Amino acid sequence: MSYDSAMEFSIIKQHFTGLGAPSPSEVHLGIGDDAACWSAPSGCLHVMSVDTAVADVHFPKAGNWYDIAYRSVGCAASDLAAMAAQPAFATLAVSLPDHQSEQLSALSQGLEQALSDAGLALIGGDTTSASELILTLTVHGWAQRPITRAGAKAGDLIFVSGATGLAGAALQAGLQNELPSAWWQAYWRPQGRFDLIQVVSEQATAAIDISDGLLADMTHICQRSGIHAHIDSASLDLSWRETLNEENALQLALTAGDDYQLLCTAPPSARAEMAAAGFTVIGKCLPGTPSVSVSRDGQPLTFSTLGYQHQS
Ligand code: ADP
Ligand code: MG
Repeated sequence: MSYDSAMEFSIIKQHFTGLGAPSPSEVHLGIGDDAACWSAPSGCLHVMSVDTAVADVHFPKAGNWYDIAYRSVGCAASDLAAMAAQPAFATLAVSLPDHQSEQLSALSQGLEQALSDAGLALIGGDTTSASELILTLTVHGWAQRPITRAGAKAGDLIFVSGATGLAGAALQAGLQNELPSAWWQAYWRPQGRFDLIQVVSEQATAAIDISDGLLADMTHICQRSGIHAHIDSASLDLSWRETLNEENALQLALTAGDDYQLLCTAPPSARAEMAAAGFTVIGKCLPGTPSVSVSRDGQPLTFSTLGYQHQS
């Protein structure tokens, strides 16, 4: 279905207006004008990130539009949690291919649920047609002290907010197949860890969300902070692995992305408070080359994107 500007207006009104959390009082103007207007609360920095999700690149084209919308919002919102920013609002640029009206309703409902769950109000966007479904979300939040990738110090501990590898296991198993529900949830219902931003903003020296894989994202912290990271693979939670063998599960936990857990560094004095919030210690920051090393049972492991081998 292609459409003219009257149809575009009715699509915006019916499917993209009033979605998500209530608009914060700092938003002076939302959907319906040429632009949105807002101010930041005093003492806070405005934190913003943009993410594009393209059919068959970032999600399977055959996926349900509710699920695709939910996942797109969850992935985008997670960048705010990774900065320890309070979620505030979002904008959406959507390119729509030919579709059934039920698909557009499902998209709208998925957006509504995911934006509400993340605490974001939808305050603007753009609607166009294209040959494939593309969703571009900007997410905006506020932080008194954004936590960057650059503050890790030698001697800090490395913390992760939950198990990793589940979304990778879902992808590996084929998303269209029947999956263990925890794997399905990890892939299709990513949750920015806004429940942890208070403790992260108070305790963490650096933070990132795991979108590319634990090792890849830890490497970003190492490079920005100028530290070496050592990870003890025995400390990773593989309780989700079902029938996968341990090697495969460990590889996914270390190298698969898409789980959107938080990876943080903090001094040893923060350990009890971070643990009470649900973080697990998985390693330590050391002086040295900005890279990540991993050991299992005291033996070094080496990794490639394809997997890892024991070093002999
Ligand atoms: P303009 O032609 O001035 O760019 P549009 O007709 O594209 O305006 O949009 C009208 C209003 O609807 C704007 O306030 C815009 O932010 C909002 N809008 C358009 N598409 C979306 C969308 N997909 N989600 C949320 N708001 C949207
Ligand atoms: Mg205009």
